[in-house]
Amino acid sequence: MADSDFGKKPTKCPYCSSTSQKNTLCTCSYKTRLSPVLVVEMSQTSSIGHSDVSVSSERRNEQVFTKNKTSAKDLPSQTSSVERKASQQQWGRGNFTEVKVPHIRMDNGAAIQEIYTFGRILGKGSFGVVIEATNKETETKWAIKKVNKEKAGSSAVKLLEREVDILKSVRHEHIIHLEQVFETPTKMYLVMELCEDGELKKVLERKGHFSENEARWIIQSLASAIAYLHNNDIVHRDLKLENIMVKSSFIDANNEMNVNIKVTDFGLAVRKHGGSEAMLQTTCGTPMYMAPEVINAHDYSQQCDIWSIGVIMYIVLCGEPPFMASSEEKLFELIRKGELRFDGPVWDSISDCAKSVLKQLMKVDPAHRITAKELLDNQWLTPTAYEETFPVTSKKGNTDVLDMSRLLPAALKGELEKPSVTSSHGKATKYTAKSAVLPRTKKKL
Ligand code: ADP
Repeated sequence: MADSDFGKKPTKCPYCSSTSQKNTLCTCSYKTRLSPVLVVEMSQTSSIGHSDVSVSSERRNEQVFTKNKTSAKDLPSQTSSVERKASQQQWGRGNFTEVKVPHIRMDNGAAIQEIYTFGRILGKGSFGVVIEATNKETETKWAIKKVNKEKAGSSAVKLLEREVDILKSVRHEHIIHLEQVFETPTKMYLVMELCEDGELKKVLERKGHFSENEARWIIQSLASAIAYLHNNDIVHRDLKLENIMVKSSFIDANNEMNVNIKVTDFGLAVRKHGGSEAMLQTTCGTPMYMAPEVINAHDYSQQCDIWSIGVIMYIVLCGEPPFMASSEEKLFELIRKGELRFDGPVWDSISDCAKSVLKQLMKVDPAHRITAKELLDNQWLTPTAYEETFPVTSKKGNTDVLDMSRLLPAALKGELEKPSVTSSHGKATKYTAKSAVLPRTKKKL
């Protein structure tokens, strides 16, 4: 890690305040420095639907370590329908268990180098760099986002603090996990779970588009994460392909890609005070994914995220955005009209049910737009309901025969069906998708 502070000066121990030689850590804390009693701040995380969450940071390190070592367990193909159901149900508020996210304030970043070995750069963000790092003790790999607060400026730091604040308070299997935060007077280090397979956008660019089944699991995971956020009065406001990371992925026996996604980048996320009825006003987000009510500078609600899920689902299915124009003004005009087109050969093989979901996600009037919870319960995401509603999908002679195997999670299909070839051609589409808080802001949140 290119950090000019590292290892150059004697280090003041963040725990006992004694000064040690450069590149050495005070022995008071080496073994226990992550213990909750030693850190300056421990924030509370409301964790929902997890049975293993009431553990210290060290304990969680062990758990993640085990998980990484046996990474097959982490793969979505091994996710049983019961586990998927549990994931779907994770949106609820009940059963809170507290987990602490250590926020360690220190004079300089030297101690971090004692804990982690820094490796490749995973990516560069608007205000900092994200680097792969391995915990020397546990050998667990993490992604550490390092931001130079001075260089980033006060408004960027504000966004970062908002991101940290929200990430500390959430825990969901499809939301990026923040393990701990280190902060010096000039820098902030966010230790996050590592998403080895990078951005979903890049995976899509390589594939062209996902099959309907592949898209189903992506949207189910996304819906579960967003339902969880909305149920806890958090609105993401910048959902887009670039903000969905892929922790792991693999091709199953049916030649379908299973991706384990994580929602990231909570810089524009906001907590709604006043519950689900509260309205927001700041015009922000990324134009291509912005809901009509946001670009119209109307009061809007968490439903803006649902529109963005619609845009993501459309792109994931066909490889192109639903609305494209030569200027932002024209793009906004198309979004305001919200006329979805399903032209082109890709759409011929996509079910009416999926198209119906897209129309419900991208209803121009947010009051008529499906909610995240309703999306999770939608028949397209729940094969059982689909089976009851649409018992016919293919024809054999004069008899309509249901091919239910297409609707099962890949892992459950097993021998049920012959391997089918996933169409994965098509040219990758390049998107320019920059987040912005637009000048139309009526009122600061
Ligand atoms: P931005 O500032 O644009 O929101 P970030 O600083 O959060 O972006 O991330 C920059 C890049 O680092 C991302 O585009 C992504 O490729 C990579 N990255 C971010 N978080 C992770 C992670 N948890 N695991 C792997 N790569 C990551």
